[in-house]
Order: sequence, then C-alpha cells, then structure tokens
Amino acid sequence: MKYHDYIASRSWRQNPARLAELKAAGFRCRVCNNDGGLSAIEVHHRTYENLGCERPSDLTALCRDCHRVVTDHLRRLRYAHRVPAHADVRSALEGPSPLFDPTFKETI
Ligand SMILES: [Zn+2]
Repeated sequence: MKYHDYIASRSWRQNPARLAELKAAGFRCRVCNNDGGLSAIEVHHRTYENLGCERPSDLTALCRDCHRVVTDHLRRLRYAHRVPAHADVRSALEGPSPLFDPTFKETI
C-alpha cells in the first residue's frame, strides 16, 4: 500500500500506536501544546521503518502548523548535502519554441 493510501486508511486512523500517542500527548501538540483548534492534531512519523506496524516511539502528535515546520526542517536536513543537478537547457532555448517565440508556428 502506498504511503498516501495508508495515511488516508481506516487502518492508520485506528492504528493502536497512533491512538496511544494521541492519548499520551493529551490530544495536544507535543511542540506548542495547541489542542489543534479547528484542525485535528496530526501524528508525525519519526521513522518509516515500521510503516503499517508502527510502535508508539515511532510517532509524535503535532498540530498541523508544527507538523509542517518539522517535516520541512527534516527535509532540509535530508537534502542539505545534495548537489543540485544542473540541466543543460541551451538546446531547448536555441530552437524555436511556442513557449518563447510568439512567431513560432508548428508545422505538422
Ligand atoms: Zn504545534
């Protein structure tokens, strides 16, 4: 099962580890102590090693805003040392293109 399908599934919503983390956190965000307000408290995966069979220590209850910040931070750390791939777009720009040349007419 793909990650997004799993997160939307009943299996995830009723996952005992997820429910245990929500209860242990008092249904509040572990970072800012927000109760979620109009949006629900989300459960963040600290690891995906046990995806589908999570342990309570794999999960952290977060409000939507903190979940977004934590996820963004972790992605920045994960990709910080990657060297960006550079694409050579010169050949695409040298020829006529309907995207860049208003006089270009496609001939089929
Ligand atoms: Zn929060």
